[in-house]
Amino acid sequence: MLQAVENDKSNSIDVEESILGGNHSFIGAEVAKNWGFPEVLILPIQYHHEPEKCPSKNNKIQLSVKAVYLSDLLVNILYSEKPDEYHNKFRKSAKKLLDLNSNDIESILEQMHSRVQEAGAYFNLKIKSSKSIQEILQEANIRLSLLNLDYDQINKQLVQAKIHLEQMTIELEKKNKILNNLANIDGLTGIYNHRFFQNALDQEISRAIRHESCVSLLLIDIDHFKLFNDTYGHQVGDFVLVEFAKILRENIRKYDILARYGGEEFAVILPKTTMKDAWAVGEKLRIAIETSEFAGESEKYHVTASFGQTYSDPAADDDFSKNTFINQADEALYEAKEKGRNCVISYTPKKKWYSF
Ligand code: GH3
Ligand code: MG
Ligand code: MG
Repeated sequence: MLQAVENDKSNSIDVEESILGGNHSFIGAEVAKNWGFPEVLILPIQYHHEPEKCPSKNNKIQLSVKAVYLSDLLVNILYSEKPDEYHNKFRKSAKKLLDLNSNDIESILEQMHSRVQEAGAYFNLKIKSSKSIQEILQEANIRLSLLNLDYDQINKQLVQAKIHLEQMTIELEKKNKILNNLANIDGLTGIYNHRFFQNALDQEISRAIRHESCVSLLLIDIDHFKLFNDTYGHQVGDFVLVEFAKILRENIRKYDILARYGGEEFAVILPKTTMKDAWAVGEKLRIAIETSEFAGESEKYHVTASFGQTYSDPAADDDFSKNTFINQADEALYEAKEKGRNCVISYTPKKKWYSF
């Protein structure tokens, strides 16, 4: 009988009648009668597919018949292949038979899932946890809308979705770039900040070790900048810092790394650059600064800067450390200030300061 239902997709009640000569409601009720069950159990079994035919005038029995009928519809929302169809039927019948309003109906549908589990536990039955009615209906809805689309439409939608995704990816990359920049760029001058400088120096040192090449570092400090600020004001000072950074950038190679080290101090990492060449770069920058006119709105300003320089071949230097390297440039810078400022001083291990 089940095979016939499966094969012909026919109604199970019709199949029961044609094969057994009676459907499961009738047979169930006859068995219950035979066992001496009371009417209040027999009638709901007999009429649970056609409640309107129940002959009893007893309200309690009528109510049971309708409740079992509605329960059967609920089961079919959970376990049949046409949940939406049974959902509609349940809503209509619940209103018609028990005069339930939409709120009551929603609440039954919502609670169904957990109440079934509760009931199962009460009778010590293991009930395979099914999806909630809401989930089932949502899935049915999606399946229905997919069925309504033809292949071309689905294809178009997929293409659109892909385009949308690609656009989002591009935007995400842009935003990531902006974020990255925010983290690595100095807000005033637009050149790299201290954080970036430290990472870049790590990288350049590693590269120099790998390639057994050298690396140089310049630390640059504007001379008497406190006095400059005191004389012309902080805003003019800021303007000079921006222009100062521009001049440095315009006078170095593309792969040299320029950063604002702090306040009025700047750093340039010079990969693959010898001591003498790095000193020459410093001198070139020093002259560019010294000879520049920083043209403000009403006045032209001049500044000079002092330069400390150091050099290393880190692969050949067992004692090499990044901090020592930076300190050397710092000591050379200090020496440049001591020597009267506006000059470039190179660090040498024996502290015989060198200016080429
Ligand atoms: P020295 O020649 O010895 O370097 O003298 P100095 O006055 O430049 O050195 P000091 O370290 O005493 O002062 C640094 C000045 O740089 C003080 C501070 O107001 C100024 N400064 C640092 N950051 C900024 C900034 O972002 N904007 C402006 N306008 N000034 C800054
Ligand atoms: Mg300083
Ligand atoms: Mg200074």
